[in-house]
Amino acid sequence: MNDAYPSSAPPCIEVSRLTRRFGATTALDDVSLTIPTGGVFGLIGANGAGKTTLIKHLLGMLRAEQGSVRIFGQDPIENPVGVLGRIGYLSEDRDLPDWMRVHELMSYTQAFFPNWDERYAEELREALDLNPNARIKTLSRGQRARAGLLSALAHRPPLLVLDEPSSGLDPVVRRDILSAIIRTIAEEGRTVLFSSHLLDEVERVADRVAMINQGRLLLTATMDEVKERNRRVTLRFSQAHERPPALVGAFSHSGGGYEWTYLCRGESDQLRQAAGAIGATVVDDAALTLDEIFVSQVAG
Ligand code: ATP
Repeated sequence: MNDAYPSSAPPCIEVSRLTRRFGATTALDDVSLTIPTGGVFGLIGANGAGKTTLIKHLLGMLRAEQGSVRIFGQDPIENPVGVLGRIGYLSEDRDLPDWMRVHELMSYTQAFFPNWDERYAEELREALDLNPNARIKTLSRGQRARAGLLSALAHRPPLLVLDEPSSGLDPVVRRDILSAIIRTIAEEGRTVLFSSHLLDEVERVADRVAMINQGRLLLTATMDEVKERNRRVTLRFSQAHERPPALVGAFSHSGGGYEWTYLCRGESDQLRQAAGAIGATVVDDAALTLDEIFVSQVAG
């Protein structure tokens, strides 16, 4: 359960046993995933992992060949109006009408969404430093991303889906503006799903994560659970060892002599017990970074 955003509402997204092949490539392999209503969900994976393919199924842009997808309890293919009207979407390729000016894009998008909030749209335009008279085709990659964000956000959707939102954004916009927007939306009880390969960013912003690699879901949990279950522990032994004594749950080590550091799967209490069983005491115990956890999961 996500303590930061407790919700008795039904899940926002339910994906069950979803498999998708493109010729010989299995882009999604039996993926099941539940995303609760409220909070920020980070979808992590390297290039080609299957993130965009999963997102396209959520938006009804791809039909589930095997398995099922439900958004707000509905099938996005069978009920596109009921589903898509409640989603704000920033696509990976930022496909925007090139011939429009920024202010035209705003009025055009507004026409599709009755909940469009003009004041909020204007605030976002200023915060994102977008010139209303600039033509979309003259915008830089980062400015296009900002214009796409504005369109996705200003109708205050219950679900915001951002595919690699940081891509093209400079670090200041990424850190200060994008993160702030995402947090604000979650604090209002809405749901944000964003995909990223920037793990430090996901670590900073997300309450829950799912890791996907070569179409397979490696893990899904709250960020707190992920951190509790993946630790770096340094053990002190009463005698020096040339090689590190085996520690249950460890997948990597460094050090030498009396002190060895292990990267482990397991919670602090379990690791303390395991250390005691091999005659060692824990002298340091810290959470791994998401980056270290991802690398260890991908390595198997
Ligand atoms: P990236 O971060 O690079 O966008 P991703 O995690 O979003 O990667 P996907 O775009 O979902 O990954 O692609 C998953 C796999 O499916 C890749 O091997 C990709 O080449 C393949 N793929 C995706 N769409 C198609 C398509 N329309 N036709 C053929 N192969 C596809």
